[in-house]
This record gives sequence, structure tokens and C-alpha cells, in this order.
Amino acid sequence: MSIRVSDLAKELGVTSSQLISALHDLGVEVAGPTSTIDEDTAELVRELLASQSAGVTEVPENVIVRDFADILGISPSDVQKALIEMGVLASLTQTIAFEQAEKVAAKLGKDIRKGTGRAPTPAKPKAKPKAAPKGARERPPVVTVLGHVDHGKTSLLDAIRNTRVTAGEFGGITQHIGAYQVIKNDKPITFIDTPGHAAFTAMRARGAQVTDIAVLVVAADDGIMPQTREAIDHARAAGVPIIVALNKIDRPDANPERVKQQLAEVELIPEEWGGDTMVVPVSATEGTGIDDLLERIQLQAEVLELTADPAADPEGVVIESRLERGRGPVATLLVQNGTLKIGASVVVGSTYGKVKAMIDDKGQRVQKAGPATPIELLGLQDVPNAGETLTAATDDRHARQAAQERTDREREERLASSAKVSLEDLYRKLREGEVKELNVVIKSDVDGSAEAIRQSLDELSTDEVAVKVIRSSVGNVAESDVMLAAASSAIVIGFNVRVEKEAIAAAERERVEVREYNIIYELLDDVRKAMAGLLEPEEKEEIIGHAQVRQLFKTPGGMVAGSYMQDGRITRNSLVRVMRDGKVVFSGGVDSLRRFKEDVREVVSGFECGIQVDGFNSIQENDIIEAYEIQQVARTL
Ligand code: GDP
Repeated sequence: MSIRVSDLAKELGVTSSQLISALHDLGVEVAGPTSTIDEDTAELVRELLASQSAGVTEVPENVIVRDFADILGISPSDVQKALIEMGVLASLTQTIAFEQAEKVAAKLGKDIRKGTGRAPTPAKPKAKPKAAPKGARERPPVVTVLGHVDHGKTSLLDAIRNTRVTAGEFGGITQHIGAYQVIKNDKPITFIDTPGHAAFTAMRARGAQVTDIAVLVVAADDGIMPQTREAIDHARAAGVPIIVALNKIDRPDANPERVKQQLAEVELIPEEWGGDTMVVPVSATEGTGIDDLLERIQLQAEVLELTADPAADPEGVVIESRLERGRGPVATLLVQNGTLKIGASVVVGSTYGKVKAMIDDKGQRVQKAGPATPIELLGLQDVPNAGETLTAATDDRHARQAAQERTDREREERLASSAKVSLEDLYRKLREGEVKELNVVIKSDVDGSAEAIRQSLDELSTDEVAVKVIRSSVGNVAESDVMLAAASSAIVIGFNVRVEKEAIAAAERERVEVREYNIIYELLDDVRKAMAGLLEPEEKEEIIGHAQVRQLFKTPGGMVAGSYMQDGRITRNSLVRVMRDGKVVFSGGVDSLRRFKEDVREVVSGFECGIQVDGFNSIQENDIIEAYEIQQVARTL
């Protein structure tokens, strides 16, 4: 049994980052809110948090931000975020007054009082060593470059690629195959060579998580722009850590401090301000800062503890694909686990084949490819789609069969439901445990309404179903909104905006529900209704009648109570309580219900009947049999 970090955080009433830092205290490192941990580790965290929350924490009159975070047992950046929300921009070493500390604590759901500053010492359960799967070895990180148009994504990817030539790396020149590797400190890093979140999200929509780390390019002369925000949403929705490349630092109008301020406002708090976001100044055109960026990527990769097992069966994901004259279907594949070898039979999405040749990013033919290696693959029967996965098969026949089964299954799934998620079928999905939250992408005409809708939707959340707004912004519903929704099993809500043509096509293709509204009330009402269906029906007991026992008959099948219905009714399916002197002496069901030796379904007030109570033979004259039913009531919010 494993449990998602974000789910456990919800259960414990803490933020994911608080939980991740608690896990860190236990010696368990996780990548992000979407990572999973095992049940034993979850139990340890529950204990740790329970012991921490017991008692009020003492905080000195004036306290340094970092110490305050320590005392509370949370990450300093959470304290800073809370302070920012209060309009206070504080560095790690800054002192805050108790009144401020108190407000921060309240925001974070902690109780504090003035004192020595000692936390109630939590009984730290011993951390269990993290059990890496057998055969698992460190593997290179896979990095995607995201950011606003013209901020320098392509230039940055070029600059990184060029380090190969300057470093004199063997076969320095890269062929464009959709991904490449560079070596830094003797360790490879894999870059996806298609910048931007369109490809990133298209892959996620197909269920493939390729990227371990996102490099967010922000031009120092331009700052955070709409697509920067989009990119952040996408990376966050994928639970991928973000490293900021502060590009164009060479430009005279570059203003790094302003960008850092903007980053802090979207909760990417720079490390030098005590947050945990690495911000690396670079110039893609001049090639400065690139080494530093690569080192930071490796640092982040170490934290993520990325592993794969080279000896396992090969698994991979398609990054790009095309049909080439003379070569047939060509797919750029990123091997994710195991080692892919020439001659292997493989299934890729709904096609299959035998690995005829593999070409690496230097244009060299290779015999095998291990984890995080990008290669061009020849030998498939058909062109697979980006985001489709490769698995191994024992031979061609099995590969063909598996590919066919996959195609059939996909067709069935497509027919089975018109949308991956829709307001109508949320209830069923929830009941089947498929979803626990309603993810929503909101597009609206003005910022004010976007914010109002976000807040109102947030307020609809209940303990059982959370409404999670994964993106809320101004503008028409665009294709990228639909793709984000597809990747996150979300619905798209357009408020007073148009749905672009490409978005309509994408919604059909990706089976995403797009709903349009002009009146906030109607929007909220629809969501509320869907959530009422979303919630498990409440069980309500209804007393339906009382019978008085007047005479007892012993029968071979047990004791039958000759009774008189005083009020209401009793049915064959009723549940009953036997009451004696006002006290319940038995509760159970009805075994038989008869009138004049005839089995009947129901007896109503004013009639006599024979009732046999299931499993109860010590019934007595004058007992009252109370009949009741359990009704399932759909809840309203
Ligand atoms: P993309 O749309 O994000 O891929 O951006 P490009 O890489 O195409 O860059 C957009 C423009 O910014 C191009 O004219 C680049 O030459 C320029 N550019 C990119 N990086 C830098 C940089 O570090 N410094 C300067 N001065 N210009 C840059």
C-alpha cells in the first residue's frame, strides 16, 4: 500500500511542503506532492506530527525567521510565504516580533506563546532506511526547459548543447533527435530538446511523466509573463521541482532583483532570500552561468535520488516520432528503466516491432541504451505517438498481440466515457475511488472574476471532496488550458470568454470537458450539484412503524410473535429493534412476516400479523417491535 504525499498532507491538515519537510526529518526524501510513500512511512509521519502538535510551542519575544521555522518544525520558506501574504518580505536572518510570529503561526495552524523558544520535543520515531528497489542505481535527471516566448529557451538549450564542444566531449556535435545528454562532473544530464510546456503537457496527458526537473527561463529584462505563469502551473501540476534560469543577464536593462521579487510573489522564493528555489543568472547568448546551472541541476537531482535498474526489462517513452522515407517509422525514445538492446521485441503504444537500429544524440549507432538515454529507434511497424510508452515483449508474436490488446483497450475506454472527467460522472469516479478531488482550470474575462470564482470554488471543498483550482487566469480558453486539464484530469471552466478553435479540437481529442458560463451563480450551482452527487450518500434511519407482541407461537423454525401493528407499517425487508420496558433488547432483521399463514411483504397499522425476528427467540409478550429502514440520501452542500 502506498499513499500520495498530497493525500497524506490533506489527511493530516498540513501543506505538502510541511509534510515533505517532516519526511525529510525522518530521513525520507521525496520529489514532490505527487510522490508516493509506503504505509509504514506514512504511519511514522503521523506519529511525528501528532507528537509535534501536542502542546503549545514557546517562541521568544523576538525571533529570527530561520529559528522560528525550526521551532515550529516547518520549512523556513513556509514562514516566509506566510509573511509575504501579510505583506512582509523577510530574509532568513531577519528578526520578527512576537505579534508577527503569532499571525504566521495562526496562518499555519500552530499554537504559540511567548517563552524560551523551545519546541515541545517530539519523540522522533526512528527513521526507517529507505528501501531502494533491488538493482536500482542512480540515473541521470531528465530536464525540460519551460518559459515565456522569446525569453531564451531555444538559446539556452543551444548554449547547454555547446558546452559539449567546448568541453571537448567525445562526438561533441549533437544531432537533433529531440533530446540530448551533456556530461557535467562525469555525470550525464538529459535535456528534452523541445522547449515549452506544450510538449511537456501533451506527454503528461498521455500519462507519461518524463521530466524530473523543470528549468524555468525568465528573461531578466522582462520578468514574469503570462506563459511563465502557465509554465509554473504546469510544472506544479506535474509535481516537478523548478529551477529558475534568470536569462539575458547581459542586457543593460536586466533587472534581476525585480524578477526575484516577482518570483517570490508566485511562491518561488529565491534561495538567497531563504527560500528553496534555485535562481541561476545566465546569459544564453554569451554562455555565462551555464556551468553553474548544470551544477544546480545536479544538486537538485541528488535531492531527488533518481534511480533506475539497468538490469530490468526495458521501459521507455516516445518523445518525438515521424515517418522517414527509406528509414520507415522513426521514434525518439527516452529509456526510463532497464536497458534496451538491438533485436529486442517491443510494444510501443498501439504499435510494435523489433529494435533494428538505435542511434544516439551524436548520430552514432549504439547496441544498447540504459536509463535516461535518448535514442532514435528504428524497426517499428507504425509511427507511435509522443507520450506513448515502450515495453518489452518476449517475441514478435507476443508484441503484436500486446499492441492489439492495447489498441482494443483504448478504443473501449474511449467508447466507455465521452470525457475523462466531467461534472456528470464525477460521482461515479469518486465512488470507485478514481478521483478524490475535482480539478478545475478557470479562464475568465477579468482578473477580479477569476479570483472570485477561485475563492468561491475553494469554499465548496469539503472533507471528502476537494475542489482544486490548478490554474486560474484571464483570457480565452486556449489549447494549452485544455492540455493542462487533460494532464491533470481536470475540467475547464470558461467564464465570459470564448473557447478557441484549437481548444475545441483539443478538448474533443483529449476528452476534456469544457463548460462555459456567464453567471457565477450558475457555475457554482452546477459544481455544487456535481459535488452533492460526488459525496457518498448519507445514511438516514427512518422509523416506519411499531408492533406490539400479543401472543407467542413456537414453530420448528423458531419463535413467532403474534403481533398487532400499532402504527405505521412493517415490511419483510425492515430492520427491527425489540424494545422491552423502553429498552432495546435486540436489533436485527425480519425472518418471516405472515398473515394467516401466508407470507406477506407488508403489514400496516391496525392489522395483526406473525413476525419472526431473525436470530431472536427470547421474545416476550408485550415487547414492542420497532421497524425502521435505512435510507440513502444524496447530500446537498
Ligand atoms: P524562446 O522563444 O524562448 O525559445 O527564445 P529564443 O531562444 O528564440 O530567444 C529569443 C531572442 O532572445 C533571440 O533573439 C535571442 O538571440 C535572444 N536571447 C536569448 N538569450 C539571450 C541572452 O542571454 N542575452 C541576450 N541579450 N539575448 C538573448
